[in-house]
Amino acid sequence: MDIKAFAHTIDPETGALSGPFRETRRTIADLKGHFAAEGAPETLVYIVLEPVEQQNRDMTYAVTVLMPGKVGAEYFMTKGHFHKRNDAGEVYYCLRGNGLVLLQSRLGIVETIEMRPNGVVYVPPATAHRTVNTGAERLVFVAFYSPDAGHDYDSIAKSGFVKRVVENEGRPALVDAG
Ligand code: MN
Repeated sequence: MDIKAFAHTIDPETGALSGPFRETRRTIADLKGHFAAEGAPETLVYIVLEPVEQQNRDMTYAVTVLMPGKVGAEYFMTKGHFHKRNDAGEVYYCLRGNGLVLLQSRLGIVETIEMRPNGVVYVPPATAHRTVNTGAERLVFVAFYSPDAGHDYDSIAKSGFVKRVVENEGRPALVDAG
């Protein structure tokens, strides 16, 4: 049997992989209902780049390029999700930019962890996670996870994150989602 190893390099500016990859682009329209305010629907918020080799593998990675920007006072962010598998966590490695990981347990307990270049963040299982770009540049990070962990966007979309990350006097602040 073949050894199905693969290896890539990642362009830290664009997130592009040196091997074949798939790209998913999310605009403000794709994030409908997630931001408190209205923004121009076609504005690009983030791109996820995944190697095509990832099918049927126990582990893989994806690169997220989260643009700088805000909708109203709220910083650009990813949709956020739980994993379908309740025992599956994830590890982030930040290549460039500055931001936060917003974590929320099933009971609605919230925590934030800073993302900065060369920083590593461990996201525990059974925890909804969303990344927020609080900086002036792109936030580019690699997520390492098990593909069969699955994405459950619905649970957190229904209950919602209980906190929002907004700019207040030039700095990020956590406010109640209300
Ligand atoms: Mn995840």
